[in-house]
Amino acid sequence: MSLLIVEHVSKFFGGVRAVDDVSFELKAGEMLALIGPNGAGKSTLFNMINGQIRADQGSIRLLKNELIGRSTRGIWRLGVGRTFQIAHTFSSLTVVENVQIALLSHERKVFGFLRSAAGLYRGRALALLEQVGMVDQADRACHELAYSDNKRVELAIALSNDPALLLMDEPTAGMASRERSDLMILTRRLATERNIAVLFTEHSMDVVFAHADRMIVLARGRLIAQGSPEAVRENALVREVYFGSGVVSGLKSATARGVSDE
Ligand code: ADP
Ligand code: MG
Repeated sequence: MSLLIVEHVSKFFGGVRAVDDVSFELKAGEMLALIGPNGAGKSTLFNMINGQIRADQGSIRLLKNELIGRSTRGIWRLGVGRTFQIAHTFSSLTVVENVQIALLSHERKVFGFLRSAAGLYRGRALALLEQVGMVDQADRACHELAYSDNKRVELAIALSNDPALLLMDEPTAGMASRERSDLMILTRRLATERNIAVLFTEHSMDVVFAHADRMIVLARGRLIAQGSPEAVRENALVREVYFGSGVVSGLKSATARGVSDE
């Protein structure tokens, strides 16, 4: 059974069809990569799922819950976590404090200033940091960390509300190839252990082919292919649009043609 069901979702900005009649599903524990050229609609689709942008048409359901029309916070509380393209941590706070704040926020505790919250949830925060391999750096300030370590902290923050679905916008941007694969291996382990569905955008085809179970391809707002990385790689339209000359052409007549291998 699918955890996330996206059906006929569209978003228009004036005359621009940023996302045009897109449908796909995602199962618990599955890692789905979303790829497409610049301007394809990836961020718009992402932001409709997390509630930052309201879809004009269609349906986005997490289990039985319709997400369209809910606030970002409401969607987060239903179990949708996210990480950002640029790591989002409070740089002057320590690693463990960043995670404690996320836990407090999830529990909706009101706190005046951090000092009073210092002891709260430290144990749970450390447990989350253990899972992302950052417990030994728990008391360092985030601004002292390497970029890839900040991404791990961000992952611990995203896990603080025990998400069923994790949205990752270009998780490996700005990283060297070794760090990339480490982060994706960690993500895979968390997805498996916690049965989390992961939807991520990615520019590096190496990352997609090495770490995604399935992929969907957007071009000019349309979903032009979906399936296993191997199947999508062989898709003629995808080759033309994405791996070919780099010139996006012939898409006006393109229909959303699946190459699902199921
Ligand atoms: P991607 O993330 O794949 O690069 P986007 O979702 O950012 O693509 O953009 C898809 C299309 O929608 C682009 O043509 C972009 O210019 C347009 N677009 C995105 N956001 C807005 C906005 N807030 N207002 C107007 N046009 C937008
Ligand atoms: Mg984008």
